[in-house]
Amino acid sequence: MTSKFLTEVQQKVVVLGDFSVGKSSLILRVSKNEFLEEQESTIGAAFINFSVNVDNKPNQIQIWDTAGQEKFRSLTPIYYRGAIGAIVVYDVSREYSFQTAKEWVEELKEKANPKLIIALCANKIDLLEEKKKLLKEKEYADENGLLIYETSAKTGKGVTEMFVDFSKNLPKDQ
Ligand code: GDP
Repeated sequence: MTSKFLTEVQQKVVVLGDFSVGKSSLILRVSKNEFLEEQESTIGAAFINFSVNVDNKPNQIQIWDTAGQEKFRSLTPIYYRGAIGAIVVYDVSREYSFQTAKEWVEELKEKANPKLIIALCANKIDLLEEKKKLLKEKEYADENGLLIYETSAKTGKGVTEMFVDFSKNLPKDQ
């Protein structure tokens, strides 16, 4: 093994949220810089590994997609096991998906590692009127100790920035 591998940090991150909020699209955007109008409902794999540059060092992130299981509102424990971060995504053009995001946050707080770092991701901001400021979402994130990001998997806005910043906020050892 070369020293390159020894300096890399592996961080397991799970991505959750209502169906069709753009979970797979965010993963596709950050890993391959692609966007599909008709994204299949999952990335077709349990997880993918990729690297983000944090302070000039590679952080290896392992991102887990839900493989469509979010429809059943309950995930197997293996999904959370070993995760140090969770990104809960909602669609800014679909109010109901914010309610679902809150339910996921509750579930994570109940069932996952209590030290899990949780972020709320407001996706599809390309569909949002410029002046809307997501005030209630920011207040909710604040009250619940969540990081909050605004992204568009479609235009790419905020996506890499979210993963880099989120990775920075994760503990280095599990
Ligand atoms: P998932 O079920 O949460 O994994 O959602 P998908 O990634 O499959 O995306 C659902 C649909 O929303 C697809 O038609 C995507 O092309 C679309 N989509 C995803 N992200 C965005 C975005 O940021 N903006 C817009 N306008 N559409 C998006």
